[in-house]
Amino acid sequence: LELPHLSFFAGAKIPSSFPPERVSEVAFVGRSNVGKSSLINALADTTVVRTSDKPGLTRQINFYAAGKIFNMVDMPGYGFAYVKEEEKTQWRELLSRIFIFTYKEKNIKNFFFLFRKGVEIQIVLTKCDMVIPPDLARRYVVVKEKLQHYKNVADDPLMVSARKKTGILKLRKEVLRTVDA
Ligand code: GDP
Repeated sequence: LELPHLSFFAGAKIPSSFPPERVSEVAFVGRSNVGKSSLINALADTTVVRTSDKPGLTRQINFYAAGKIFNMVDMPGYGFAYVKEEEKTQWRELLSRIFIFTYKEKNIKNFFFLFRKGVEIQIVLTKCDMVIPPDLARRYVVVKEKLQHYKNVADDPLMVSARKKTGILKLRKEVLRTVDA
């Protein structure tokens, strides 16, 4: 099971410069250092996001075309507190067909302002190789319990390790299912 070839086609700092949404979009949201780039590369099974492309202080949103089927959107950070009201509307537009990925259950609420009906959200716990299996099992239960309180969020968090390649196939399947590919 493979994703279509991913190629970078646009970078934007504000919603008004986003490329038009012609196909479904799958967005990846997560704090810097959470392992998002590694995960996108693991999903693509090649180096799509280079370290040098990573935004430092500049927060840029990168768009990658997955063939002609869908776009992957790499969104650094979340919450976007600096965004003005009219831009928030555009964010919601962008996110209206999006599947969101993030990691820290205690931060889940921070980007819930982006939600509206029809947005599918999948929580992904990254770097699972760093946690011993009994702890991982406990965390899974805690996160799963919290997810029950939110609409539009998949019941089960996915647990992945880009390093050990665990959970990658499952997430890849989930991405493809979301975009009907
Ligand atoms: P990003 O800032 O969210 O894009 O995170 P990166 O993908 O650059 O990863 C941040 C750091 O975490 C790097 O040092 C990676 O080598 C490390 N990392 C990424 N994925 C994993 C993983 O699955 N397991 C472990 N142990 N480390 C990881």
